[in-house]
Amino acid sequence: MTMLLPQFELHKPTSLKEALDLARGFGDDFDYLSGGTDLLPNYKCGLNASGNVISLAHIAELKAISPTEIGAGVCLRDLERSKEVPSSVAYAASQIASPLIRESATLGGNLMLDTRCHFFNQSYFWRRTLGYCLKADGEVCHVIPKIMKDGKSVTNSFTCVATHSSDLAPLLVALGATVTLVGPAGTRTLKLSEFYKGDGIARFDLQRGEILAKVTLPQGAYSLRSGYKKLAPRRSIDFPVLGVAAALGLGKDGRVESLRLGLGACETIPVLYDFSGKERQAERGNAIFTEPTKGMPEVIGKKLDDALIQTIADHVTRTAQPKLNVPMEPAYRKKMAGVFTRRLMTELRAAN
Ligand SMILES: Cc1cc2nc3c(=O)[nH]c(=O)nc-3n(C[C@H](O)[C@H](O)[C@H](O)COP(=O)(O)OP(=O)(O)OC[C@H]3O[C@@H](n4cnc5c(N)ncnc54)[C@H](O)[C@@H]3O)c2cc1C
Ligand code: SF4
Repeated sequence: MTMLLPQFELHKPTSLKEALDLARGFGDDFDYLSGGTDLLPNYKCGLNASGNVISLAHIAELKAISPTEIGAGVCLRDLERSKEVPSSVAYAASQIASPLIRESATLGGNLMLDTRCHFFNQSYFWRRTLGYCLKADGEVCHVIPKIMKDGKSVTNSFTCVATHSSDLAPLLVALGATVTLVGPAGTRTLKLSEFYKGDGIARFDLQRGEILAKVTLPQGAYSLRSGYKKLAPRRSIDFPVLGVAAALGLGKDGRVESLRLGLGACETIPVLYDFSGKERQAERGNAIFTEPTKGMPEVIGKKLDDALIQTIADHVTRTAQPKLNVPMEPAYRKKMAGVFTRRLMTELRAAN
């Protein structure tokens, strides 16, 4: 079956101001486009396409890269080759899609890529046979068809639980990255962990017209031991069906000073586990979600021996909540969340 792009008008501003001015004129009928490797396949499937597409590809302000600041327009191939960013970030970038896709795909597009679901990433005709779904053209979620509301089991016409499948997001969340958003009302900065909403439709804390301009890493990110592990059906091309990232502060005496884990491709957001307990997961709308801090073991100040690593891994296994909407069984992905946590923590403990 041939899947053609729907008709839209392409706009190519060369500055953020020009892009924002264009967006203001289009009301709700536009999308931003960076590399187009996520948006355009979705357009071809007839998924929520707009009449205007504003390309951000020609805006030099979005392409700067330094040890602490990475422009949203930096392509993944440049990120992967960069000697300026933490090596874990370069590695996670190298795990995305294929070399050719990474030449076009950008950091901003990766953090804002659309959620994935068996019932959503299909052609228009496939979806029509099922009566569509809540996220596009329909009224019911097929993954969680019933939901408890006011004490009653009702049809789920409220919450989309599609999976956020970015490889970079869980790592950047674990590293404590912030994002800078530029919009009609000015510029604001927020933690990446608070940028995501637990709803596969609303998805972000984003005002209409806002552009993700850059990602900032905290200075402390370079003194942490960080890494990422990805589970996917194949080693190349495939989206993650699980991603585990860690940012570990380890004292010379082998005791844990800080620990943040990021869990990707399990829920509609990259899930943050902050074992220092100073920061809880952001409030996430009406979503069905796990509270990653519930029953969290005491870790800070303790010796990172095998027993403690296993305790941390068990906590992740217990609380990970993958859904049956991307490849590979949720039970297997849940188990592997703990296995990857154990392997990653063991590797980071041994790293210099
Ligand atoms: C075959 C294939 C395999 C893939 N495998 C993986 C994988 O393994 N891991 C993975 O993480 N991803 C994967 N992807 C998804 C995607 O290619 C990447 O995530 C890519 O980084 C998206 O970036 P982009 O610049 O192309 O985004 P685009 O497609 O241009 O945009 C994606 C979304 O973000 C919005 N957007 C983009 N930039 C901005 C901005 N600066 N401000 C505001 N909104 C913005 C767009 O409006 C759109 O909604 C794969 C895609 C394909 C086609
Ligand atoms: S989780 Fe439900 S509403 Fe969301 S895309 Fe899948 S079927 Fe649609």
